[in-house]
Amino acid sequence: MSELFSDYNLRPELISAIARAGYTAPRPVQQASMPAILAGRDVLAQAQTGSGKTLAFAVGCLQQLNFNKNAMQAIVLCPTRELAEQVAEQCRVLAKDMPNAKVLTLCGGQPMGPQINSLRHGCHIIVGTPGRVMDHVQKKRITLKHLKVRVFDEADRMLDMGFTDDLAVIFAGLRGPVQTLFFSATFTEATTALAQAYLRDPESIKVDSEQRANVSELVYTVEDGQRFNALKALLTTEQPNSAMVFCRTKRTTQEVADMLAQEGFVVAAIQGDMEQVDRNRVLMRFASDCLNVLVATDVAARGLDIAGVDCVVNYEVSENPDAHIHRIGRAGRAQQPGMAFTLMSESEGAALAAIEIHTKQDLKKKGAQSLRFHANRIIEPEFVCLNLNEGKKAKLRPGDILGALTKDADVPGEDIGKIKVQANESFVAVKRRSVKRALKLFREGKIKGKRVRAFKL
Ligand code: AMP
Repeated sequence: MSELFSDYNLRPELISAIARAGYTAPRPVQQASMPAILAGRDVLAQAQTGSGKTLAFAVGCLQQLNFNKNAMQAIVLCPTRELAEQVAEQCRVLAKDMPNAKVLTLCGGQPMGPQINSLRHGCHIIVGTPGRVMDHVQKKRITLKHLKVRVFDEADRMLDMGFTDDLAVIFAGLRGPVQTLFFSATFTEATTALAQAYLRDPESIKVDSEQRANVSELVYTVEDGQRFNALKALLTTEQPNSAMVFCRTKRTTQEVADMLAQEGFVVAAIQGDMEQVDRNRVLMRFASDCLNVLVATDVAARGLDIAGVDCVVNYEVSENPDAHIHRIGRAGRAQQPGMAFTLMSESEGAALAAIEIHTKQDLKKKGAQSLRFHANRIIEPEFVCLNLNEGKKAKLRPGDILGALTKDADVPGEDIGKIKVQANESFVAVKRRSVKRALKLFREGKIKGKRVRAFKL
């Protein structure tokens, strides 16, 4: 296996872009999949978000396409807009030294006009969500005549979201073989069937989550009806700055988040019924340390680009061992070991046993009655997230926001946390003690000569 990107015989423009992005050595998933990808073979990979799989398939596409020909040659399909945008961004970073390469994002929930326009101008790589890509294919705005590579990213989640038929429609008109790269965090019967429908003699690879060894796991046995009490007691005992709580259903997810909020926790839910803008806001708050607890379903959490959390709590035992591994893979921040707790009632014994067999370990168990809830030990996040109503389209950059806050509003630099500028809005995390001053700036002052409205999330 190659220890260096330069061993792969890549285009020099790719080697330079990889080095500039700061990637020194290929990750295990890249080492395992890139030889087959670069040899033009189909690949079936079990890999988690955070493993580095995007770079593996992005390099595969960028290495093989002909950017002197104005024709769409690769399609990457992702379950959500967030993931599609992350993938497109990574492709663009890697294509920095290939000035002709055009990457186009086509996601649902976005206006059609600009997408139609961009398609008219042409592109080489499309990254999108299946529903919207299907629309364009059906209206003949996309032709698959020159397609060389197609990628199914987070295939299990596309399946969960009911995109199977859309995928079939997109590729119904395909003539001749193309290379297919299929990535999924978990493999169930349905995912395997989907893979079989699209792949030819694939090279199969499996990479365990690298963070796993670092996570210490403990199971709390709970009485039915005592689950929520155990959760809030656990959170005030461990006092994590960031915790993800996983539930099986959207309904429980929302209920648990609402009940925790009532107790005084700074918490939000993320589940499939939420509007995109609300999901985005919740994610921004969590990623910038403005929320201590995020309650999520497996489906909604998969694919989220969250660096890692102090603590994962399985509010209910996961029915699928792979999903369990995926959940606890989130624990651990910046090389710090993470903690993962599972609340298990008697009726969940079989599901836990399946996880223990799958992961070849006996998990330590303790009675949840040893846990005590301490209302005065609920911690507050250090930062508050401010949402600004302007973004990249108004030529706003992170430096402008930082400059205005530190120079015009006298907010100490150490009181400003993460700043994220998106197309039409921005987010800035500000320490509690400086929130008033920051809001006053947005109420009364200007940034780059423009009035920018802000509100607390
Ligand atoms: P992914 O699993 O594709 O979502 O990637 C997770 C993260 O790993 C991304 O933020 C990448 O920037 C980063 N990454 C990918 N490949 C490498 C590498 N070889 N070395 C260091 N970081 C990487």
